[in-house]
Amino acid sequence: MKKIFGIQNFRLCQEGVCNANMDGRDVVCIMPTGGGKSLTYQLPAVLTPGCTLVISPLISLMRDQILHLKEAGVNAVMLTGGTPKQSVNEIQSRLASMATTESNDNEIKLCYVTPEKIAKNQRFIALLQKLYNGKKFARIVIDEAHCVSDLGHDFRPDYKKLSVLRHVFPDIPILALSATCPPKVLQDILKILQMGPVVDGKAAPLHGTVHFSAPLYRKNLHYTILPKPSSAKEVISTMSEYILQNHKNESGIVYCLTKKDAETTAEALGTISKGAIKTGVYHSDVPDDIKERLHTLWREGTVQVVCATIAFGLGIDKGNVRFVLHHTARIFIAHLSTQKSLDGYYQESGRAGRDGKDADCVLYYRPQDATRLSSIICSEAAEGQTKLRDMLRFAQDMKECRKILFAKYFSASSDLAMNSWTTEEANAMDRCNHCDNCTRPPESIANKDVTLEAWQILKTLAAVESRGGRVTINGIGDLARGLGGGKFDANVGGKRKKAKESVQLDCEAVAGGKLQLSKDDAEALIIHLLINDYLKEVFLSTAYTVNVYVVSGAKALRISRFSRADILEGKCPVKIECSFRLQGRKSKAAGKKAVARQSPEMYDFNSPEEDEVVPAKP
Ligand code: ADP
Ligand code: MG
Repeated sequence: MKKIFGIQNFRLCQEGVCNANMDGRDVVCIMPTGGGKSLTYQLPAVLTPGCTLVISPLISLMRDQILHLKEAGVNAVMLTGGTPKQSVNEIQSRLASMATTESNDNEIKLCYVTPEKIAKNQRFIALLQKLYNGKKFARIVIDEAHCVSDLGHDFRPDYKKLSVLRHVFPDIPILALSATCPPKVLQDILKILQMGPVVDGKAAPLHGTVHFSAPLYRKNLHYTILPKPSSAKEVISTMSEYILQNHKNESGIVYCLTKKDAETTAEALGTISKGAIKTGVYHSDVPDDIKERLHTLWREGTVQVVCATIAFGLGIDKGNVRFVLHHTARIFIAHLSTQKSLDGYYQESGRAGRDGKDADCVLYYRPQDATRLSSIICSEAAEGQTKLRDMLRFAQDMKECRKILFAKYFSASSDLAMNSWTTEEANAMDRCNHCDNCTRPPESIANKDVTLEAWQILKTLAAVESRGGRVTINGIGDLARGLGGGKFDANVGGKRKKAKESVQLDCEAVAGGKLQLSKDDAEALIIHLLINDYLKEVFLSTAYTVNVYVVSGAKALRISRFSRADILEGKCPVKIECSFRLQGRKSKAAGKKAVARQSPEMYDFNSPEEDEVVPAKP
């Protein structure tokens, strides 16, 4: 390890995985991105005779690995659909002669292939059989093993066909590696790859599968959620200032919601910083050769910031990413995905600081983004809502330590994570003391009893509903605050398709006066009510778009059944408390500029969102 890989000490569960693997056990290893999963098979590969087969989903990822291995003097090759025929022949004949030679000199220690090679290439399987018969087939490694399961967000049909490996090579140990693995996906992996204690009714080779999972918490990542300005331009200048002040000339990623966002953000960051920040764009429509080039330029530091969609992921192998910014709170939208929203955020932000040095993870959040999110996930409404709420809960929280929020979230969604938190991190529930919530000066937020304000919002909403109207998250806040003359559209899409009719709402009559909250605070409260079931989102699609409206939630009556006087006299047993950022405060990390507030006139009531979202495919 020291001599070849230049690594001084094992990290996380690396040592255990190496040992179990060299003992010939099947192993499942769940380790965070950047945790160092590669070493767990590369080290055994150089220490044992024969060839280690590595199945990896992405060519760029393989190429990086091969490059590193060659630099370290390890004999490694890759075989993909794109390998020139001559090289394929050469590699295959080298493997074939290895199979029939006693000596272990000049062995190919690692052979990286795409899953397609296994699924569709009989000749290659036959070659592996030769190695197997010659006792030169050391182990099978399945990197990004969650791709095996169609319950995961990166499902690859060809990964499923890897089940053939156990049939043909029953006693070759399998090492399955992943960073994201909810329990259902894990069960699927074990089943499809035929790992685990029982295979086809018989006891599995060598006493079954060993599970390893490493703590999810990475000390070098500093999480911060910053209020997001409401004008697109302000968002960019805030980011630009942030980057220039905190990470000048250091590498980073800005994750955006849509392809269009990625493009405009890249361009605007360049313009606003007067070229001081060199950006590149990465999304699914960018041609492969340009992607490759961007990768190279970014790796060598010519491009400082990659503005990307979700598509920028699996292939990243860059240690010195000093910051990952999220332009928008985004949740995973893959069809049938069991992926929870925070897993996605955790993964993407986790691409920072893989070298173990300090790095920042900043999420720009504004409650209003919830509208945008929701309209995108409506196709899986019920599940989408839960995910959306998980994300909102995380973003909205200004008190609990981010590490603890992650820990609670992951232990609720995965038994594995729970084990790792309790066994590996004795003090998993201690505060991290370096995230935004741990370092936030107490005077920068105000915790208010807003039962009356909540009541006003619910009353306003009830009045809208009783008149057959519908309002958006943004709309209800403005209505309750008495903006726009209290007008809203009634009978929108109603049963009889009545023409839109503008209805006037009198704040005084309906809610005993205007809501005395700023726009931002009103939105924060609405999200708070949404997360806690006093409000609920409904999704309505038109021919062109999906609109998200809010309606009274399951708990609304607990407050709205009281009169204003009751509320004022404290007769309502429910108390609504909500934390607000204090207005006008400069955020340390946000740069010097205070967050701009937008005037209501600029506000777009039911703006349709037509942006396309890049699907979660590698
Ligand atoms: P993963 O596949 O788990 O996301 P990698 O295997 O690509 O992570 O490793 C991420 C980085 O961490 C690499 O640059 C690797 O050299 C480095 N690394 C791995 N193990 C160690 C270790 N024990 N100590 C220091 N650096 C390590
Ligand atoms: Mg990896």
